[in-house]
Amino acid sequence: MDTELIIKELISNKEVFWTNRGYEKFETGIAKAPLHLRDVMEAGARLQRFVPYMAKIFPETKETNGIIESPIVKIPAMQQHLEQVYQEKLYGNLLLKCDSHLPISGSIKARGGIYEVLKHAEDLALQHGLLKPTDDYSVMDSEAFRNFFSQYSIAVGSTGNLGLSIGIISAAMGFKVTVHMSADAKKWKKNLLRSVGAVVVEYESDYSKAVEEGRKQAEKDPLCYFIDDENSRHLFLGYSVAALRLTQQLEDLKIKVDAEHPLFVYLPCGVGGGPGGVAFGLKLMYQDFVHCFFAEPTHSPCMLLGLITGLHDQISVQDIGIDNITAADGLAVGRPSGFVGKLMEPLLSGSYTVSDRTLYRLLYALADTEKIYLEPSALAGALGPIQLLKTESGQKFVNTHLLQDKMKHATHIIWATGGSMVPKDVMDEYLQIGLDLSDLSVDAGDSLPD
Ligand SMILES: *Cc1c(COP(=O)(O)O)cnc(C)c1O
Repeated sequence: MDTELIIKELISNKEVFWTNRGYEKFETGIAKAPLHLRDVMEAGARLQRFVPYMAKIFPETKETNGIIESPIVKIPAMQQHLEQVYQEKLYGNLLLKCDSHLPISGSIKARGGIYEVLKHAEDLALQHGLLKPTDDYSVMDSEAFRNFFSQYSIAVGSTGNLGLSIGIISAAMGFKVTVHMSADAKKWKKNLLRSVGAVVVEYESDYSKAVEEGRKQAEKDPLCYFIDDENSRHLFLGYSVAALRLTQQLEDLKIKVDAEHPLFVYLPCGVGGGPGGVAFGLKLMYQDFVHCFFAEPTHSPCMLLGLITGLHDQISVQDIGIDNITAADGLAVGRPSGFVGKLMEPLLSGSYTVSDRTLYRLLYALADTEKIYLEPSALAGALGPIQLLKTESGQKFVNTHLLQDKMKHATHIIWATGGSMVPKDVMDEYLQIGLDLSDLSVDAGDSLPD
């Protein structure tokens, strides 16, 4: 599909599947990136230094030895369901990466958000001679350290999950923390944050405004550190560490990724840092053998719009008359990160949109078939394999990259980004909506773009 046609489809809130013309071979694409493998390794090493501390203050990380990591699981019953509903055979492995079940804050934000707070705490402690990198970091679990950190504050703007991650870890370490929340943010997320001692500031407008206000207020206070979801390299690197660990998880499952065994990864995208960081790490690990796709709601396709126009953060979905109103609160972002869009431009295979109706149907289906419960945003990846195989542009991608004969040995990873902390009554509502929608037949205009 050409650019003009795609933009028309976006404006009419259609589901589209776009493949990236700016995609390059790994060698040349990665050479343009301002970050490198050594940066990802360094972030991984930093998280390793915090292991004794995390294991101590968050006993739920005991199982994963103080590491914030999620399981990856096969979902054969969901695979069968998708094949039936969409009338398409899905060869190869279909896996779900359960960042929805990450310890501490139950979403992908437990990677980047917690990483950046830990880095800031480490920087402060090192600067003040309270810590050496070779120390046992569990010393930070003390009144002395909490008192020290309490002189400093941390601020962030969020649609919910980033605020949760940063609020929980910052408060636990002793920082004062303020979360600026957009109108989409769910009530239970605000309540939970207040219960751990975070200050929650609510806005009537969307995510971009919450971030802007947060940034403004933080600038006034020299002891306040602002976590900038739109521009932060630290957040990005925190997310990217997922890739270092995924290689081991796939090895454990005896799943190969090489020239004959392509890997496809489908990542829900809001402002871009989470999916961008993970995809960047995956490209470093698997180079040309991995194909990363972003997934956005039909009402908030900000990254796709930024990439397709080349305007990145200089255009918002509102600029072309899209309302940025979606049930996928984690993805309700109207303007993408320019930093991530530019970095990912040569590395991203493509991007697609999913309607809220489809998200709810998939939410219900995954719960029904696999007993895995996610929030609406986290289902955006689940349509990826279908879109790749069923759309004209998806098939063109497969053919262009000479993957036709390799699809039988492919692995598809749906990145599930949040949901395990959703309260039961809220989850029951999601399930009911999904069930009601599933009774209707899947009409072509709703689920298939081409
Ligand atoms: C934040 C979030 C994403 C996307 O991450 P971005 O960094 O905003 O692109 C996806 N899913 C969920 C559930 C999220 O909370």
